[in-house]
Amino acid sequence: MTVAAILSGKGHDIITARSDALLSEICETLAKHKIGAVVVSDDEGVVNGIVSERDIVRVIGTQGVSALKTPVSSVMTKTVVTCTEENNINEVMAQMTQGRFRHMPVLKDGKLTGVISIGDVVKFKIAQVELEAEQMRSYITMA
Ligand code: AMP
Repeated sequence: MTVAAILSGKGHDIITARSDALLSEICETLAKHKIGAVVVSDDEGVVNGIVSERDIVRVIGTQGVSALKTPVSSVMTKTVVTCTEENNINEVMAQMTQGRFRHMPVLKDGKLTGVISIGDVVKFKIAQVELEAEQMRSYITMA
């Protein structure tokens, strides 16, 4: 199964922020959309970075709440690991586990087309296991 299967279920909604947005604004965005990370993008579809709740907790933990006035560009992760819709879900899961991050922007022709989280991946996997179990049950009862 590929990333396209996850995106066709959850949709292609992408929450982005500009690199000059303040961390306080990023917090508002995370809270409003009930998400854990925001892709930072200054040009349509281009990934400049990613910032997650972990980055914000870390900077507040070290610098205090005044850090909320700093622009996201100084806190975001600039080397972003991305995937495409054709990538295998198990490979994406392995990359997230190895890299210790829970979000991955999805690119199509080099442009942002979606974002998947480890939560989306796990939800998809559980649905797949349940479907297989159901198919196995009906196969057994038919026999
Ligand atoms: P997360 O587990 O997604 O909350 O992120 C943990 C750390 O990894 C934070 O420093 C994020 O900025 C960073 N991060 C999140 N997603 C990615 C990604 N796709 N590529 C690289 N770093 C990421």
